[in-house]
Amino acid sequence: MSRTIEEMIMPIYEFACSKCGRSFEELVSLSKIDEVVCPKCGSGQVKKKMSTFASKPASGGSSFSLGASSASSCGTGSV
Ligand SMILES: [Zn+2]
Repeated sequence: MSRTIEEMIMPIYEFACSKCGRSFEELVSLSKIDEVVCPKCGSGQVKKKMSTFASKPASGGSSFSLGASSASSCGTGSV
């Protein structure tokens, strides 16, 4: 029961290349985050801007509406 949750989820990280300035998103596990390279110039000099979990609703943002028919619970599993 000591498995870290990072091993089971695949977070989407947003990177910005320090070399060409390209911004891109990469679905990568934490153990591979240092291996991310820029898809444009191939440089490894990328900076992580923010992280968004894949299980999080990407669009909509109506999770704060009161009295919604959805039975609460964070994480509806919608991808
Ligand atoms: Zn680049």
